[in-house]
Amino acid sequence: MRNDVVKTEGLGCSYRVGSVLEDISITVATGEYVGIVVPNGSGKSTLVRALMGLNTISAGSAALFGVPCGKFNDWGRIGYLPQSLNLFNPLFPATVAETVALGLLSLKRFPRKITRRDKQKVDSMLEELSIYDLTNKLIGELSGGQMQRVLLARALVNDPELLILDEPTAALDPETRDKFYRLIAEINRSRNVTVLLVTHDSGAIGQHASKMLYLDKRMLFFGSFDEFCCSPEMSALFGEHSQHLMCHRH
Ligand code: ADP
Ligand code: MG
Repeated sequence: MRNDVVKTEGLGCSYRVGSVLEDISITVATGEYVGIVVPNGSGKSTLVRALMGLNTISAGSAALFGVPCGKFNDWGRIGYLPQSLNLFNPLFPATVAETVALGLLSLKRFPRKITRRDKQKVDSMLEELSIYDLTNKLIGELSGGQMQRVLLARALVNDPELLILDEPTAALDPETRDKFYRLIAEINRSRNVTVLLVTHDSGAIGQHASKMLYLDKRMLFFGSFDEFCCSPEMSALFGEHSQHLMCHRH
């Protein structure tokens, strides 16, 4: 069997109101950086949650590292940045270092203690993401861009093989957003970590990702940006001008 990080076959997801995703078949290999582009409200989070085993699958199958989603529980191999920043109460009196260390604690069994080695891991993670100077700041004092880096540090501190980000830049201004995308591309290369980045921002992701999955309930496109740019179906969908702007290649 090949070493696929993510594989779905005819994946479908539905809620009581009806089906949200239909017939999604993708294969993602180690080291790829897939931008998942979906118009808002049409199932980005649903897909990610299905992969994480948080949503039930109504048709087809999905697997992470060859293990069916739902049975997969090797969470140390995955770093996950959920969509909602609201999960984090900004008034919670935790420092940046403590917040990142939570990423390590979450995998430990009782007694959950931070060791000196853990502290070193946190420090080098903060260093790598250029936020070491924020170490002792309270998370309530951070800007949106700083907060995203801290959450990214928390997702990366276990050295995951797969990083899943659900609209990480939705609350950021365009400049901070581009910096964040560049940072993800750097991490993808330097650590050879596979990345799934969900966004509704079809214009920017082509500069950074290696492949695009374009969904609107069904899978409209999955492939490289070169393939995207040469696809007559995509010309028909976006118009040739937008197609070139999105591709960022030619
Ligand atoms: P996106 O992340 O692309 O904005 P979602 O995957 O969150 O979209 O949602 C896709 C659709 O499924 C939306 O129409 C939403 O209202 C619906 N939906 C999402 N979660 C639930 C749920 N738990 N129960 C019922 N419907 C839901
Ligand atoms: Mg969403």
